[in-house]
Amino acid sequence: MAFENLTERLSKAMKNLTGRGRVSEEDLHATMREIRLALLEADVNYGTVKRFVANVRGKASGADILEGLDAPQQVVKIVNEELTKMMGDEAVPLNKSPQIPTIIMMAGLQGAGKTTTVAKLAYKLKQENKARPLLIAADIYRPAAIDQLEILGKDLDIPVFSLGTDTDPRDIVRAGLEEAKQHRNDYVFIDTAGRLQIDEVLMQELKDIAEIAHPDEILLTVDAMTGQNATETAKGFSESLDLTGVVLTKLDGDTRGGAALSIRDVTGKPIKFVGQGEKPTDLDVFYPDRMASRILG
Ligand code: GDP
Repeated sequence: MAFENLTERLSKAMKNLTGRGRVSEEDLHATMREIRLALLEADVNYGTVKRFVANVRGKASGADILEGLDAPQQVVKIVNEELTKMMGDEAVPLNKSPQIPTIIMMAGLQGAGKTTTVAKLAYKLKQENKARPLLIAADIYRPAAIDQLEILGKDLDIPVFSLGTDTDPRDIVRAGLEEAKQHRNDYVFIDTAGRLQIDEVLMQELKDIAEIAHPDEILLTVDAMTGQNATETAKGFSESLDLTGVVLTKLDGDTRGGAALSIRDVTGKPIKFVGQGEKPTDLDVFYPDRMASRILG
């Protein structure tokens, strides 16, 4: 992740402020204008920026803060807090079912990194929690998807359940869940079909699968590099599916930061993990406070 432009512009705006002995309402106004422009240029959602600026202004303006001796530091602190809040405040852990298996359904547009993320997350659980996951290959429309999942599973020594491309995904899921029951797998991942864009047939299939599987998690993968489009995609999916969280992929290639900063605020869904590369280990828990500090430099 390198949101260099954003970081540079934000720290410049803050330096203007911290270079002064006191902060006037005009100084605050000018700083907030700079911050607002920097966020918009980073492709942050317009409404999110507006709310953020209003929140910082609301907290910072007035005699209490601005006339205090450490006014500049207080404003910097408020900006940091509000950025953190915008991204969800706390890291949100994966849901866990009281009985095995915990079922994690993955959704996303084609190319967003869904299949890769299934493997990464299953591997993470295997390494860190000694989990015994099963991956269900239910993306029958992209012929290479099943092969890709099988290859990843083989490399990582994680079993993959597949019935090829000729069986209805709903039946694949039913059979896969049965298999998990027999083998007492503690986590089941369902890799569903991605499309180039959201369409009704895709959504209906996903809704049906959710009804069949009663997943503990429905995670949406979105590509951070697509900025506002990632936010719109997340909004679109969350209108049809009870998403429990988002995985923001390709953060390593994202130079702007708009998706990371907008998704939580626009959709109300937490970003639970971020993908930061193509390797199985390149998946990290998303911590809003750490991200805010990194962005502020
Ligand atoms: P799907 O169609 O959503 O299942 O997408 P894939 O899992 O096939 O991923 C599409 C491409 O994105 C592949 O080349 C992946 O290696 C790549 N990819 C996925 N996640 C990341 C990530 O976090 N960082 C980078 N750099 N590449 C990623």
